[in-house]
Amino acid sequence: MMKALVYEGPGCITWTDVALPQLQHPRDAIVRVDAVTICGTDLHILKGDVPEVQRGRILGHEAVGTVLEVGAAVTGLAEGTRVLVSCISGCGRCRFCRQGVYGQCLNEGGWVLGHLIDGTQAEFLRVPFADTSLYPIPDAVTDRAALMLADVVPTAYEVGVLNGQVSPTDTVVVVGSGPIGLAAIKTARFFSPSQVVAIDIAQSRLDAARRFGADHVVLVDADPEAAVLELTDGFGADVVIEAVGVPESFELCTRLVRPGGRIANVGVYGLPATLHLEDLWTKNITITTGLVDTYSTPTLLAMLASGQTPSPW
Ligand SMILES: [Zn+2]
Ligand SMILES: [Zn+2]
Repeated sequence: MMKALVYEGPGCITWTDVALPQLQHPRDAIVRVDAVTICGTDLHILKGDVPEVQRGRILGHEAVGTVLEVGAAVTGLAEGTRVLVSCISGCGRCRFCRQGVYGQCLNEGGWVLGHLIDGTQAEFLRVPFADTSLYPIPDAVTDRAALMLADVVPTAYEVGVLNGQVSPTDTVVVVGSGPIGLAAIKTARFFSPSQVVAIDIAQSRLDAARRFGADHVVLVDADPEAAVLELTDGFGADVVIEAVGVPESFELCTRLVRPGGRIANVGVYGLPATLHLEDLWTKNITITTGLVDTYSTPTLLAMLASGQTPSPW
């Protein structure tokens, strides 16, 4: 037996004894969990917003661990290897995986851990498609730094910074300074924007945004539209990254972007937002959305290992 955090229905989780995971397929691995974290998505599950999560499911989709056992078809991982357990599992073979779009894997991959199969908030877990879903961690990278690459950093980087095509000299506005917003601020810096502006409802989070690399911070109550216009000679932002997930926040983003600019939505929504096409149709803007694919995970691990981005995040 082992201890695990088990979802028992909306508003109810227990830390309880459950059976040890077993290999179920030749491409599986069993991993001992050494470090784990939680995600805003776990809170959505706990509220009952994700009905496909069944009672009895072990939660969690982010971990660092050690490979204990591999199935007969696993060729690239040995027992004892320290690995990052990514939030996304990919078969590596379907049409989406072949394009690096692992989040949409057609063979029971994608976001499955702590969702459709048992997850990481346990002493041990089974990982499907181990060769293409686990990432050996370079010696120079600590468990704590690597753990942020299981979900939060690739999500902010791929769905925010890369989808938003952050480019040299851009003004980048990040709406929301929670973990995703902070990771977006940090990774936007890879592309030399001229200024990064953080917007949030809480001063404490804006203080964190400054530590993560924001040049300007604006409270939502302090007229962010006027502040962004003043910082951009009246044009608006080149890139706006939405990192909250409520309708008001998305609609604010559409008022902050310059004509021809880009809005990269990262937020997870429980309610519909209004798209004001009557104002936007002439503005040539691009709006992107996405679930993380984790195609950037090897790059981000290499940046931690080489010291190109400091750790911990
Ligand atoms: Zn997550
Ligand atoms: Zn696939």
